[in-house]
Amino acid sequence: MSDARRLIPSLERLLESDAFVGVLEAHPRALVVQHLRTELDRVRREIGDGKGSAVDPGALPRGVEDPQLYAAGVEERLRVSATPSLRAVINGTGVILHTNLGRAPLAESALDAMASVARGYANLEYDLEVGARGSRYDHCTALLRELTGAGGALVSNNGAAALVLALRTMAFGRAVLVSRGELVEIGGGFRIPEILETAGVVLVEVGSTNRTRPEDYRAGAAKSDPAMILKVHRSNFRITGFTEEASLGELVGLGAELGVPVVYDLGSGLLVDPESLGLPHEPGPAESLATGADIVVFSGDKLLGGPQAGILLGKPEWLDKMRKDPWCRAVRVDKTALAGLEATLQLYRDPETALREIPVLAMLSAGLEELRERAEILAAQLADAGVPGEVVEMSSVVGGGTYPGVELESRGVRVESAEGGADRLADRLRGASVPLVGRVEDGSFWVDLRTVLPWQDVMVLDLLSRHVKPDEAGVS
Ligand SMILES: *Cc1c(COP(=O)(O)O)cnc(C)c1O
Repeated sequence: MSDARRLIPSLERLLESDAFVGVLEAHPRALVVQHLRTELDRVRREIGDGKGSAVDPGALPRGVEDPQLYAAGVEERLRVSATPSLRAVINGTGVILHTNLGRAPLAESALDAMASVARGYANLEYDLEVGARGSRYDHCTALLRELTGAGGALVSNNGAAALVLALRTMAFGRAVLVSRGELVEIGGGFRIPEILETAGVVLVEVGSTNRTRPEDYRAGAAKSDPAMILKVHRSNFRITGFTEEASLGELVGLGAELGVPVVYDLGSGLLVDPESLGLPHEPGPAESLATGADIVVFSGDKLLGGPQAGILLGKPEWLDKMRKDPWCRAVRVDKTALAGLEATLQLYRDPETALREIPVLAMLSAGLEELRERAEILAAQLADAGVPGEVVEMSSVVGGGTYPGVELESRGVRVESAEGGADRLADRLRGASVPLVGRVEDGSFWVDLRTVLPWQDVMVLDLLSRHVKPDEAGVS
């Protein structure tokens, strides 16, 4: 042992020292002891590394005998360990349904509904009229039917689970026809072939990557005795050029001819007219059901703008069967998500209210004029704070595996940082207590205001003012 190590006070002496009085008052002793052990190990290791050999006392970690050194180290460790791993961030990327940033931000009324059922008990599986056991699957059903014209509805904990549930219930152990052009990977480990395997059904690929015709499904059916035709929305990519696909209408006709149900995995379920948001037309849940799909599947937290959930709509006979499958129990939705979904769906009764109150729809429908004005105000306020920021033209995307290739003209601000450049600025902003995630392009840091909620503009101003020139603002 080097002589320097002898200078390190013992754990017991440190805990009894004045430096630790405050720490021990504020935190459980066992926790303090645990962090102190780690801190002592660190100091011993540093000395052992030769950073503090006895030959060169000047190289000792400063104050190695001083209890304050250890108290400060323990306090820092306590602070870091108390910081939540999951926390709010500001999305300046311009990707509206950013899966890595938690997809859809929720409407106020959805948040209120979730808090209200989470804070206490709820009639989740209790029928208040008769005072007896009820079913969690009764909630949201009437509203979903009203809004989409569906015969029945069932909610699970996410879209992937809902698809597996439909496959298991309707085709377990049997063949399912899917176009080779729809064997997609959505991300996060979701690949159609693997989902089918997990669900215990046999994938029968039909057609080719770029062209699949109704005859291809017919040929697939002839050799496999299928239990289902599955159509999958391509979601996150486009096939262009020499392409052809069987329409849902054609598949419905074929399903009737073969006597098998048609399931459509829509991915995202937009409940307003896409054209009202300036988006190209794509069939939504109501249109797909009207075309004759037996079951449609989509997510609660994509364009619907609600909490994470998987929604199944369609023929009541199939949905009844799904409710009885053990998999339904395994992927059941929780009370907070149901409450948030119900409140979100309520907003759709008036499409204008939906566009205003549901953040995803408000972001999609935000006017360029409004975004430009916010960007100009932010740039002016930044200038007042001594940070030169410039209003810039940007383009946002819908994200979440929806509307690939569609760009929404947007406005934002761009700042430059002399302190280590844009990458270092991005690092500092990610390290803030409420992190700001933006884009780094052409050596500057860009914030797209379409995905910044309007009440966060002041926070963006504060973050950029403090972090663009960290030394002047005293931020390390
Ligand atoms: C997103 C998506 C899913 C998965 O939905 P989650 O709610 O994320 O589980 C399934 N299918 C398609 C086509 C999708 O785009």
